[in-house]
Amino acid sequence: MTQEFVDVLIIGAGPSGCVSASYLHNNGTKVKVVEKTKFPRLVVGESLIPRVMDHFDEAGLFPALDAMNFEKKLGARFIRGEEICVFDFSKKFGEGWDWTWQVPRADFDNTLAQEVIRKGIDLEFESEVLAVEFNGSDSITTVKDKDGNMKEIHAKFIIDSSGYGRVLPRLLDLDTPSKLDPHSSIFTHVKDINRPEGEEGTLISFDILETEVWLWVIPFSNGNTSLGVVGPTSFINSLSENKDNAEALKNAIQLSDYYIKRFGGVEFLFEPVKLENYSRSVKKMYGDGFALTGNSSEFLDPVFSSGVAFATESGMLSAKLIHRQLNGEKIDWEVEFTEYMRRGIGVFTTYVKEWYTGNLQTLFFHQPENPDVKEKICAVLAGYVWNQDNPFVKKHDNVIKNMAHMIQLEKEQAK
Ligand code: FAD
Repeated sequence: MTQEFVDVLIIGAGPSGCVSASYLHNNGTKVKVVEKTKFPRLVVGESLIPRVMDHFDEAGLFPALDAMNFEKKLGARFIRGEEICVFDFSKKFGEGWDWTWQVPRADFDNTLAQEVIRKGIDLEFESEVLAVEFNGSDSITTVKDKDGNMKEIHAKFIIDSSGYGRVLPRLLDLDTPSKLDPHSSIFTHVKDINRPEGEEGTLISFDILETEVWLWVIPFSNGNTSLGVVGPTSFINSLSENKDNAEALKNAIQLSDYYIKRFGGVEFLFEPVKLENYSRSVKKMYGDGFALTGNSSEFLDPVFSSGVAFATESGMLSAKLIHRQLNGEKIDWEVEFTEYMRRGIGVFTTYVKEWYTGNLQTLFFHQPENPDVKEKICAVLAGYVWNQDNPFVKKHDNVIKNMAHMIQLEKEQAK
């Protein structure tokens, strides 16, 4: 069997794997990326948040992405019947990028992967990790290529960024149930033939159909738009008697007063895909000789588009820690990796939970708007969830609940 030797093996060439690979390569580490599929490949996760720009910039991947003219995302709109709440990333608390992109991920991820290859990194498509054996922090990974040939890759460290492939969580029994309620989604792309002119046509929007059910509308610069419905699994399953995904998504669109005209009659560009009970968690995020990043570790919920940002945050952070470790430094992975990641995940977990209780929606749609509150929530939605100067980060545990409660009390007193 062929034997290969690298410093760091990266499993998966999604945004997480590409950011890690690029950072490590730029800093002189010998990396190899193995990717099971052939790119471009379909993957969900098209609405980015500004925090990702820091990572793409630092990894040296920004110019290649910028050249693609993806649709710029300057904020996000939430719709509830007649009520509208628009967040503008330029009006947020603290430092950080004011914009990002909304992207067809097949093209976006392919751009990242091609740029990684262009830099001289060894990225092998259609190569699947089958098994991993650890000897201390050293590992031997068995990989099958597209012709069925097997090889062994010897590495000093593995970054598992295999997304829902969850290679190491499966092999090392690290999966644990998510603390979030079971939610599911059905999505597809459409040719947006009724797209209105101007901002209305390109604005990324989340239309609340019921407190726990919402529709996403993500227009791309190529004229197509991504449509998806999200809700409790029981609700998503009830959208179509025969569990036909196309019928279910059509039925969901019918529930949207705002979008029924624009999307009621459009054709789906591919058979809608159902992602059932999509939240994931792990018992631990690292071990001797490996780190789990992106969806291979934790995935919460699509409602605030935090998935890719956590993927690139953990991809970048793990790469930096490995680089230091390979240079002889002792790294406290519990403090520098797990605790750091868990702080950010904790903030978004609260926001997701409070979205589905309806408390966050109470804050979003409260009139008159409070600009001070709004800019602080906006910073969280932009992904700046480690900024302890922001009370909506620091006191996330109770600030939303308490404010929603006060708004409800005010409403009752006004009756
Ligand atoms: P991925 O992008 O999934 O990449 C993992 C790669 O690993 C894949 O290419 C896969 O082929 C490869 N792989 C798997 N197994 C193996 C193996 N054995 N060997 C080799 N390679 C392997 N996030 C957002 O930021 N915005 C959104 O709007 C958003 N919407 C979402 C909607 C839904 C319904 C869901 C479920 C998720 C959404 N997400 C969103 C989350 C987003 O999809 C993920 O967080 C993101 O893609 C994770 O990136 P990654 O690099 O970790 O994994």
